[in-house]
Amino acid sequence: MQRRSPKPIIKLQTGEDSKDNSVPARKPGVHKVLSLDVTLNPRDANAVGQFGQAALFASNEDAEVRKRWDEGHFNVYLSDKIPVDRAIPDTRPEMCAQNLVHDDLPSTSVIFCFVDEVWSTLLRSVHSVLNRSPPHLLKEIILVDDFSTKDYLKEPLDKYMSQFPKVKIIRLKERQGLIRARLAGAAVAKGEVLTFLDSHIECNVGWLEPLLERVYLDRKKVPCPVIEVISDKDMSYMLVDNFQRGVFKWPLVFGWSALPEEYIKKHNMTVADPIRCPVMAGGLFSIDKKYFYELGAYDPGLDVWGGENMEISFKIWMCGGEIEIIPCSRVGHIFRGQNPYKFPKDRQKTVERNLVRVAEVWLDEYKDLFYGHGYHHLLDRKAIDIGNLTEQIELRKRLKCKSFKWYLENVYPDMDAPLAKAEGLVFNRGLRKCLALQSGSLSFEICDLSKQSQHFNYTWMRHIRQEDLCVAPQSKDSGFGLQPCDNTKPELRWFHKSSNSALAEHLITEFVSHHMCLEAGALGDTLHLNPCVPRNIFQKWQFTHYHAQ
Ligand code: UDP
Ligand code: MN
Repeated sequence: MQRRSPKPIIKLQTGEDSKDNSVPARKPGVHKVLSLDVTLNPRDANAVGQFGQAALFASNEDAEVRKRWDEGHFNVYLSDKIPVDRAIPDTRPEMCAQNLVHDDLPSTSVIFCFVDEVWSTLLRSVHSVLNRSPPHLLKEIILVDDFSTKDYLKEPLDKYMSQFPKVKIIRLKERQGLIRARLAGAAVAKGEVLTFLDSHIECNVGWLEPLLERVYLDRKKVPCPVIEVISDKDMSYMLVDNFQRGVFKWPLVFGWSALPEEYIKKHNMTVADPIRCPVMAGGLFSIDKKYFYELGAYDPGLDVWGGENMEISFKIWMCGGEIEIIPCSRVGHIFRGQNPYKFPKDRQKTVERNLVRVAEVWLDEYKDLFYGHGYHHLLDRKAIDIGNLTEQIELRKRLKCKSFKWYLENVYPDMDAPLAKAEGLVFNRGLRKCLALQSGSLSFEICDLSKQSQHFNYTWMRHIRQEDLCVAPQSKDSGFGLQPCDNTKPELRWFHKSSNSALAEHLITEFVSHHMCLEAGALGDTLHLNPCVPRNIFQKWQFTHYHAQ
């Protein structure tokens, strides 16, 4: 069952509540969240995009906008016109400004990794941290240049940042990708907490203290700000819906989903309460530095971009930590349609390879669902080199992390994750009998649910399986038979749909290029592989229960 973490932040009594005059004395050691914002009175109130408003451009600027779009896959032309220290609206729920946080919060190193980031967005990111963070909590800002190719990110950036003693720049000697770039930043960080941010963000008023407060309360909490949207088209700062959390869908695709209404009611949640978050979006979070290393940081075998948010999320939850979204902490992020930088190798292959590493280390038996949702081809290890996983598997053992089943049941119970696509008896419509496995061979029997020999699973690997044996389209003697199950063998896979297909209920072998279907002999003593015929009822098979199409 889900459990809500205890209410973290002490709230000041306000309005109606204080009628009884029992306003508590201010607790020593806490203060109201600081609403520090150097940009509240901006230098130029009429500047383009000021206060987070949409920046407009004339129709004769259209060509210029288009020309510069690809530099960042957003409106770079407009971004360059907007002040690097513009003001944005305070979008926090009202009660946030009243929340109390401890006086002795840990300090943080803010780490920005970037590759070929647009000048104005990189600067706006840095300024937003400098202008809206309490200086005593901001140990440093570390910019990790992941081998950018743009000249303006070299001397000009050094020169610009030299006016801010807290900003340090480290430069990687070759392209490492976001994961190893973050590790490089963490390795030199001096703050007690690491705060990772993307390089095209704007931190909002009061963003930092609520994050650090959570780490202060429990070092195994990993808080994320609410990620608001900076429009890629007009650079306006836009609000997002309340109660959103990060989740995944198969095959490990990140997405947002609202907390179920009943959950909000049951836990009497307000819009300002921390939200348990099954998967973090990835780019923006704080984590206790020691805890980050106890967890083995990121898997350094992950390349460039993708899957690292799944890896760290599963690791945190399964190994004793918690990920939370903190509604009182808000950071805007430019969501782009495409990555504007080059991938050293094919983008899709890079992401898939990262995901396979994550699936192999963390998903246990549920990795079949990952492969089964369109990723069968990734089982062919001759086609992809996923690298060595020994250290990651060892790490999981050493940390005594819980199972993926535990994660699904406790952290993400609304996720549908049946281990088999279908199961039960395998009924042949023509014969009106069921498949049975008796002393190592297949036969037909009168259907009987109580007989284990008639129970098969139709798995995500598309196997028809009983224990370790799989129905195979070929064997030496009878022309038909069984083989030990082996995920890497395509000849053991059967395509099967219960509906919505011309060949619904057929078992189509994937082994041969032309469609061949499993057919019961009319006398009930043989099985054949024959050309598929949609209406042939001896080719129609039905499992007792279907869990997924
Ligand atoms: N990044 C990096 N090296 C890479 C890829 C990305 O340093 O090889 C940086 C990138 O500049 C950005 C952050 O990592 O600051 C996250 O990447 P991106 O914004 O493309 O991810 P998204 O927000 O689209 O998920
Ligand atoms: Mn980003």
